[in-house]
Amino acid sequence: MGGKGSRLSFSQSVDHMADRAFRALQLEEGVASAIKACNEVYQVRFPVEIRGRLEVFTGWRAVHSTHRLPAKGGIRFAPIVDQDEVEALAALMTYKCAIVNAPFGGSKGGLRIDPTQYDRGEMQRITRRFARELARKDLLDPATNVPAPDVGTGEREMAWIADTYKHLHPEDINYAACVTGKPVTHGGIAGRKEATGLGVVFALREFFRHPEDVRAAGLDGGLGDKQVIVQGLGNVGYHAARVLDEQDNARIIAVIERDGAVCNEAGLSIERLHQHLCEHGGVKGFPDAIYHEEGAGVLEMPCDILIPAALEAQIHEGNAERIQARLIVEAANGPVTFEADEILRRRGITILPDAYVNAGGVTVSYFEWVRNLAHIRFGRMEKRFEEVRGEHILEALRTITDQPIPDFIRQELARGPSELDLVRSGLDDTMRSAYQELREVYLSNDRVDDLRTAAYVVAIEKIARSYLDVGVY
Ligand code: GLU
Repeated sequence: MGGKGSRLSFSQSVDHMADRAFRALQLEEGVASAIKACNEVYQVRFPVEIRGRLEVFTGWRAVHSTHRLPAKGGIRFAPIVDQDEVEALAALMTYKCAIVNAPFGGSKGGLRIDPTQYDRGEMQRITRRFARELARKDLLDPATNVPAPDVGTGEREMAWIADTYKHLHPEDINYAACVTGKPVTHGGIAGRKEATGLGVVFALREFFRHPEDVRAAGLDGGLGDKQVIVQGLGNVGYHAARVLDEQDNARIIAVIERDGAVCNEAGLSIERLHQHLCEHGGVKGFPDAIYHEEGAGVLEMPCDILIPAALEAQIHEGNAERIQARLIVEAANGPVTFEADEILRRRGITILPDAYVNAGGVTVSYFEWVRNLAHIRFGRMEKRFEEVRGEHILEALRTITDQPIPDFIRQELARGPSELDLVRSGLDDTMRSAYQELREVYLSNDRVDDLRTAAYVVAIEKIARSYLDVGVY
C-alpha cells in the first residue's frame, strides 16, 4: 500500500520518514529500533451468520507502543485493509499522540469489510462480534486499549462497541472510557465528530499566523481567497472544507470524491455539495461545477493549498512531480508516500504533516476519555459561576464608565462556557502550541529541513525520554 509503483510498504514509508528524525537527533540505533518497532499485532478471523449463511471476517489490532497507556487509535472498516496498513497507522498514532501531548501509546485496528454490502442489523452483529474478540485480548479496555472511529466507522459503531464492553464487564465503573467517538447521548463529548476536520483548520490558521512560514511556502496574506483543492468529503474533509469555506473565506475550487471531481474557479458551496453527495452517493451532477470523471488528475491542478483527506498513498512517485500546490495539508493519514515526499521536498513544496495536522481527532478523544473517567461533563461546575462573574464585570463597567456596552460584548461576557466551547478552545490551543513546538525545532535544528521531520523530532524526543527515564524491563 505504499502507493502506485512504490517499492515501499506503508509501514516502511512511515519508518523512512521517522529515520530522518532519528538521524537528526543522532539517537542510538537501539533506541531508534525500539521506538520504531510495532509491539504487537493481533489478527482474528470470526464467522457471522449473514442471510442464512456463515461469512468469515478478518480483523486486526496493532499496538505500536505502550510507553503510555492506554494505547489509542481508530478502527477502520474497509474492503482493503491488511496487517501492514494497521501497523503503519498504529505507528502514526504513537507519533501523533506525542506531538499533541495526548498521554497515550499508539494503536490501530482494521476489519476487512465493505460496509455498503450489509444492512444495519448485520453491521451491528459483525461489529459486536469483533468487539468481543478484541475485549478477550485486552485490546478493548479503558486502561489498556481504547479504539475510536476511523475510515468506515463512526458514532454508531462506537456505541455498539461500548455497549458490548459494558455487557462483558458490568462491574467496570469506567466502561464508557473503553472507546471514544461515541454519540453524545451515550457518553460521547460535544465536538468530537468534527474535531479532526476542525483541527486541520486550526493548524492552517496557526500556519498563516506566521508570515515568514507563509512566504517560505511561496504564498502571502491570509487564508481568505486562497484556492484550495480537497480530496475526500468524508468526516474529516467535509468539516475542514466547510469551515474553510464558511468561516475563513477560502475558495474551495475543486473537490475530489470516489466517482470523480467537481471544479469551480469561483468556489464551491461545501454545504450544498455535501448534501448532493449524501443524496446521490457521488459528486457527479452537482450544479454550477465542471465534472471530471478522472478525479486523481485534479490533484495536479494549480492551487494554493491541497488537502488530501481520503486514504494513504494518493500522492506518489507517479504524480508528485506534477503537483502544483504550494502547500499540502495532510488531513488523511499517510497520503504522501516516502518517495513522493522526497520529490516534493526537492521541489520546495511545503507539507504540513499528517501526524500533526490530523491530530485533532485524538486530542478530542483524549478529552472524551478524561470526561468518561471523571464522570462529569466539562464546564458543569463552573458555567453559572462564570456567568455571575461576567454580570459583575458588566455591572462594574456600567458604574465606572457610563458608556453603553455593545450587545455582543454584553452577551459574551455574561455567558458561561458550554462543553462545546471548552472542547473547541482546548483543541485550538493544542493545535497552536503543537505547531509552535515543531516550528521551533524546524528553525533551530540545522539537521531538520522540513516540517515533517520537525514533527517526528518533537514526537521522538518525548517518546525516547519516556523510554530512557523509565528504562526497559
Ligand atoms: N482515527 C483517528 C486518527 O487516525 C482518531 C483516533 C482516536 O481518536 O483515537 O487519528
